Amino acid sequence: MISDYLKNSVTRVPDYPKAGIQFRDITSLVADGRAFAEAVTALAEPYLSQAVDKVVGIEARGFVFGAALARELGVGLALARKPGKLPRATCRETYTLEYGEDALHMHLDALEPESRVLLVDDLIATGGTALAALRLVRQLGASPIGAAFVIALPELGGLAALQRQRVATHHLME
Ligand code: IMP
Repeated sequence: MISDYLKNSVTRVPDYPKAGIQFRDITSLVADGRAFAEAVTALAEPYLSQAVDKVVGIEARGFVFGAALARELGVGLALARKPGKLPRATCRETYTLEYGEDALHMHLDALEPESRVLLVDDLIATGGTALAALRLVRQLGASPIGAAFVIALPELGGLAALQRQRVATHHLME
């Protein structure tokens, strides 16, 4: 159970980025030391008793939580980045946005084959982003053992889509 303090540290912004959407702004959570510490501890909790070899953080807000979680679990962090950011050879997975397409890349040597990997992002909605990261992890021959999010919007289907891919999910709030 997370505290009301942590829940209330997320700012809900109406009509952003467009009318009818209520954006969950986590900048207020990470700016608050007490809330950020609670979030990272709660994100890590299910994984303390599991072997995790690497955390994969999804650009950009997934880097913030991913880095802290990797430190908490005592493992390294691999980055799933937007196009044009990684300097060496990468693998790539595209995903559909409401208008158009985007892609995530990882360095070809970012993960050890068969290593146990935990995906992290701030929020899962439709799951398009997390599923692309999952495909990258699998392309690299690693084993995704879980996916952790600060916020999930289950009505948009992303959590269920990950579970259909046999990935156990963990989130702190909806
Ligand atoms: P999905 O691909 O539809 O699951 O959307 C999740 C991605 O969009 C994540 O990388 C989030 O950072 C971002 N995102 C979507 N909605 C929000 C929001 O309300 N707050 C913060 N990030 C969001």
